[in-house]
Amino acid sequence: MKLICIGRNYVDHIEELNNERPAEPVVFIKPDSSILPKEQDFYLPNFTSDVHHEVEVLVKIKKVGKHIDVDFAHTYYDEIGLGIDFTARDIQQKLKDKGLPWEKAKGFDGAAVIGQWVEKSTLGNLSQLQFGLVKNGQWVQQASTALMLWSIDELIAHVSTYFTLKKGDIIFTGTPAGVSRVQEGDVLEGFIGTESFFKVNVQ
Ligand code: ZN
Repeated sequence: MKLICIGRNYVDHIEELNNERPAEPVVFIKPDSSILPKEQDFYLPNFTSDVHHEVEVLVKIKKVGKHIDVDFAHTYYDEIGLGIDFTARDIQQKLKDKGLPWEKAKGFDGAAVIGQWVEKSTLGNLSQLQFGLVKNGQWVQQASTALMLWSIDELIAHVSTYFTLKKGDIIFTGTPAGVSRVQEGDVLEGFIGTESFFKVNVQ
């Protein structure tokens, strides 16, 4: 399976990193080895001193598809989740400056937190989901999927132009504003609405 991640899908996050607003979705892949095993702590890697949390709504693909029409994209997923796209911001910045791929900054072991899954029918309107991240008891990221530049269905249509989507693939739909550095001892808990989807200790 693969993790397909979307960059720069929320205007407020684009602005906080002084990035350009893209003309089409920014897409990158994390390897399956980057998935943080359930109930395990996240260990800060020693090759970076600036790992950021990026809380993101996740979509689990349920059947194979390619060149998916946006009007049929909703038939390719039933489950929605929440996770963290951990990013070594110092390394990403160096790679970006040189025009190089981001994988070292995004694909390291543990860089993909995947919380629980729920049936999309239980969440109501997917383009109005309130979600966010609490760090050490305080909200650090709070947003609505209404602020996405591209909706879940539009992302599926776009991504499937380039990659065949397979059952079990997961799409990270991009992070809103509020990203910040994590430190040893931090506790990160993600919510959709009032429901907790994951809790991760940083070591
Ligand atoms: Zn991200």
